[in-house]
Amino acid sequence: MGVANDKSIAWAIAAAVAAQGGELAFTYQGEALGKRVQPLADSIGAKLVLPCDVTDDAAVDATFDILEKEWGGLDFVVHAIGWADKQYLRGRYVDTPRDAFLTAMDISCFSFTAVAQRAARLMKNGGSLLTLTYLGAERVMPHYNVMGVAKAALEASVRYMAADLGRDGIRVNAISAGPIKTLAASGIGDFRYILKWNQYNAPLERNVTLEEVGGAGLYMLSDLSSGVTGEVHHVDCGYHMVGMKNPSAPDL
Ligand code: NAD
Repeated sequence: MGVANDKSIAWAIAAAVAAQGGELAFTYQGEALGKRVQPLADSIGAKLVLPCDVTDDAAVDATFDILEKEWGGLDFVVHAIGWADKQYLRGRYVDTPRDAFLTAMDISCFSFTAVAQRAARLMKNGGSLLTLTYLGAERVMPHYNVMGVAKAALEASVRYMAADLGRDGIRVNAISAGPIKTLAASGIGDFRYILKWNQYNAPLERNVTLEEVGGAGLYMLSDLSSGVTGEVHHVDCGYHMVGMKNPSAPDL
């Protein structure tokens, strides 16, 4: 869930899973994105491409009803969905109005819970639920604002759902990806500055690639991570543990 184009993190994970023989279905938000997703799905032989706006409970129900009918069960779900009005992804968080807050929270946090409610029902032999988050949940990042607050709630929901669903063998995890130039990222103010800052100050002295996040996704969805749940796994070239600017990094 969350492929918009071939630069989407969801697509990078899908490509890594497909390369190992995984069978996939895709959801998309709105007809325009559906036209972009269909050829990508075709390229890996995926037959199910379903509309699903996650703010619409009936659409989420319909998606999982179709998956149940077609497949009878599910092994994993990737939730790579987030949205906030870009008007509030700049300036001060403190100025966020209630409606923008609630929408960001609904799409970027609650939708993972809504998806988990339906998906868990189909994971009779256990499974893996995976979402995507960002360091702006843990620390203040310029312009991330209401998305940072929504991601913090999303990360807390990962832990609560991991506790709830563990006895059914269902694991719930998040990947905290470093900044990557995607459609969603283009809404964040000064994103190019954020990319440069990470490149200069991450221990690996570069930005993470889509393929690297795809590989981490494959690990989280497969039995390779069978002992891992409730985790926020940073895939960011190590930037999350840095305390100060790299003294040898160029000035920005
Ligand atoms: P993207 O634009 O490719 O994907 C975002 C997806 O969210 C799109 O497919 C969009 O259709 C979907 N979406 C938004 N509102 C929706 C709704 N109401 N119903 C259904 N789908 C909806 O961008 P991306 O960067 O691949 O984002 C995927 C996830 O990764 C997001 O949660 C994002 O916050 C997270 N993330 C991104 C970065 C980054 O730097 N790009 C870093 C860390 C985490």
